[in-house]
Amino acid sequence: MNAFIKKIQTALNDRGYGPLKVDGKDGPKTKKAVAAFQKDAGLEPDGLVGPLTENRLFREQLSVISMDGDGATPHFAKVEFACDCQGIYCDGFPAAMDLGLLLKLEALRNALNAPVVITSGLRCEIRNAEVGGIPGSRHCVGQAADLYAPGIDITRVASIAESLGLMTILYLEQGFVHCEV
Ligand SMILES: [Zn+2]
Repeated sequence: MNAFIKKIQTALNDRGYGPLKVDGKDGPKTKKAVAAFQKDAGLEPDGLVGPLTENRLFREQLSVISMDGDGATPHFAKVEFACDCQGIYCDGFPAAMDLGLLLKLEALRNALNAPVVITSGLRCEIRNAEVGGIPGSRHCVGQAADLYAPGIDITRVASIAESLGLMTILYLEQGFVHCEV
């Protein structure tokens, strides 16, 4: 028995890639479930749990929790929206994410049927100034997120976001779209 494999099997079951027997054996069923998760996560579906897969699996495990005010949705973990000042100026969460924005991001993710990567969510005022954000940016109050969807034309992502009621600013050259409520 392998404790690490057990942890993986439990995480896969929690995320709906089971049912797997939590026996710590890296058998074909487990490999198949790992590959299915990797495919959905936009990773190489080789069925092997490397650092990338492990990170995604356990980071995203947080997001299995329903939308109950803890800042997580079925597809996004709270940590994905953390301020990226690396804890220098804030604890990562200078504000709560706006629930309306989270719901729309979740809808966008579902409409695209593909992973959405948040490149910037919350920002403390200092970090916002550092990255050239406007003073009082919606990023500072949890009402904006910059994002892209790997492999999907960014203009398509933006137009779907607009159709879902998000206000968008397209950063074509940088390859992301700013979405806000
Ligand atoms: Zn910060």
